[in-house]
Amino acid sequence: MTTETSSQKSERITLNHDGTLTVPENPQLVFIEGDGIGPDIWRAAVKVFDSAVAKAYGGQRRVQWQEGLAGEIAFTETGQWLPEKTLQLLRDKIVGIKGPLTTPVGGGIRSLNVTLRQVLDLYACVRPVRYYKGVPAPVRFPEKVDMVVFRENTEDVYAGIEWPAGSPEANRLASYIREHLNKEIRPESAIGIKPMSRYASQRLVRRAIRYALDQGYRSVTLVHKGNIMKYTEGAFRQWGYELAADEFPGQTISEAEIYEKHGGQQPPDKVVIKDRIADMMFQQALLRPDEYGVLAMPNLNGDYLSDALAAQVGGLGMAPGANIGDEAAVFEATHGTAPKYAGQDKVNPSSLILSGAMMFDFLGWKEVGDLIRNGMESTILDGIVTYDLARQMEGAEEVKCSEFGAAIVEHM
Ligand code: NAP
Repeated sequence: MTTETSSQKSERITLNHDGTLTVPENPQLVFIEGDGIGPDIWRAAVKVFDSAVAKAYGGQRRVQWQEGLAGEIAFTETGQWLPEKTLQLLRDKIVGIKGPLTTPVGGGIRSLNVTLRQVLDLYACVRPVRYYKGVPAPVRFPEKVDMVVFRENTEDVYAGIEWPAGSPEANRLASYIREHLNKEIRPESAIGIKPMSRYASQRLVRRAIRYALDQGYRSVTLVHKGNIMKYTEGAFRQWGYELAADEFPGQTISEAEIYEKHGGQQPPDKVVIKDRIADMMFQQALLRPDEYGVLAMPNLNGDYLSDALAAQVGGLGMAPGANIGDEAAVFEATHGTAPKYAGQDKVNPSSLILSGAMMFDFLGWKEVGDLIRNGMESTILDGIVTYDLARQMEGAEEVKCSEFGAAIVEHM
């Protein structure tokens, strides 16, 4: 990180030694429009962001948006899908927001999103899930859901360490395991490796606990399959409890301690750390959602559970998300580029808009996040929605992407 002298008129967000941010009145934030419907939803979203900031602070604060190129537009202009200049911009400005990006077919890049996470070490994928009144949902009490998933982003079976069935690498590995480690692998098997470290598991859980403390959530649940995968998922659970006890001893308590020392009543000043086996967590999320707040989990569990939770509140197309590391954070629409709707000013910009609200919370501009969320909720409650929600709601007024954004501004 570069430091600045006080004589410079700083508009950059800066990172302090303790990991907190110093946010100036007019911070520079990076935006990446994205491919397909990206430009449509960005145009709608940025008007909502600027209006919310103006309304919250009466012109005292203003975002300076700085464009980073990525995806098809970057490839056309620079020959690269994710130019180094864009990565540098994100490192320098620390916080950014992006639309969806096409995954290039061939060309050696697995996915631009994965690359971005790896290069900037954005190790925590954060997905808040709550219900917005008026959104059609498949369960009876969607309003009971208020959970935030912290998914580890860099390890687990997603590390990309795998070989096809019958490949020389898979065969060699199988013989090594057979000969030296005394475990059988069926001949001609594909092999994938599931690495999980104390370091990566604990930095994720640390972030989840801090978030729960800052945002007033009452619990952090470690979601794992440690009953079956004892040394990976089981260790995740163990490392999570150890971290809580070592680093947050006065602020957290385990479920066992609540029963042993407090007659089953959670002390009001403590966040409870509990754990649930992943398959059971899917049941719990449906049956007793109000007993859960922040959830911390390895990569694969987080991938499945965050989509299931978003669907539970009817918001799969509206779910916000962020990928956060110690030195940068990128907020993003969680859906794809929906190419068939590109340029039609039709789709729902809510995912990007709510990701922006999350970004303003992250900057400490909570008033802006609240204005955006409340504005969106009352717009939907008034029955003003884009096509995707209109087709599920009786008597709704279907509007364009840009009109939906404008309606949110009017409803703030
Ligand atoms: P997709 O772009 O998410 O679209 C699938 C369907 O979801 C759309 O046809 C549409 O459904 C609905 N949808 C998505 N976004 C919507 C929105 N904002 N408003 C309303 N409806 C929306 O998934 P995909 O077709 O599998 O992927 C297309 C491309 O996106 C691929 O290149 C993929 O790699 C990329 N992708 C990028 C990201 C990312 O950048 N984070 C994530 C996922 C996929 P209906 O047709 O029913 O209206």
